[in-house]
Amino acid sequence: MSDSSSSATCVPTSSGHSTGATGLRIVVLSGPSGTGKSTIVNRLSAQQEVKLIKAISATTRAPRNQERHGEDYYFLSKEEFLRRRDAQEFVECFEVHGSDKWYGTLKSEVQRAHDCGGWAMLEIDVQGAMQVLALYPEAVTIFIRTASETEFEQRLRARGTESEEVIQRRLQTARRELEMAERYRYQVINDDLDRATAEIVQILKGVEGNSNA
Ligand code: ADP
Ligand code: 5GP
Repeated sequence: MSDSSSSATCVPTSSGHSTGATGLRIVVLSGPSGTGKSTIVNRLSAQQEVKLIKAISATTRAPRNQERHGEDYYFLSKEEFLRRRDAQEFVECFEVHGSDKWYGTLKSEVQRAHDCGGWAMLEIDVQGAMQVLALYPEAVTIFIRTASETEFEQRLRARGTESEEVIQRRLQTARRELEMAERYRYQVINDDLDRATAEIVQILKGVEGNSNA
């Protein structure tokens, strides 16, 4: 397996705004499966208004469709994942959706974003988000939801990438996740992709403005 540092695609810079004691700028996006997080992350990565660098998570789940190692995830064997966990290489890591599949944010990914002068953008589940907040209270946490609770189920089904068993497990997790929404600093409704993306950009610009004041 290639090392996470091999994916760096930016030129490090010392410029950039910092928040909190660590100087790291971290934005966490969570929300039920199917609400549009990955779509939003891709939109945010493409825009130029706020410098955002997607922290590529590690996972033990198998790649889907066109997913590529080092771009969508670092696809690791369970042995490799647990070895890295024991070596304290993760900011946070959890079994997600009760599926015996591990997901985690590598410290090296957060550092990579920092070295590039950008926000580290983490698309992670609620357990991971709470762990990040415990370590970095200045992290900007955003919960993405749909206008109705049936909408993300419809989108998940329309995406067509999961079996019915997996969909059912994700819907169960979604109920627990929605109960945690209030613990996020912001909630954004993704009924319109352009508007939701613009709202997140505004949130981050506001934080940058405050930390520069
Ligand atoms: P998540 O990463 O939260 O599981 P995805 O980004 O994969 O969700 O989105 C789930 C599906 O919903 C995808 O097919 C995506 O194209 C679609 N989608 C995302 N945002 C919207 C939106 N605002 N309106 C309609 N469909 C959307
Ligand atoms: P998927 O398998 O659909 O790519 O992702 C499933 C879930 O895992 C999503 O809810 C996503 O937010 C979560 N996830 C992805 N990466 C991480 C990570 O690094 N840490 C944690 N805690 N959850 C993650």
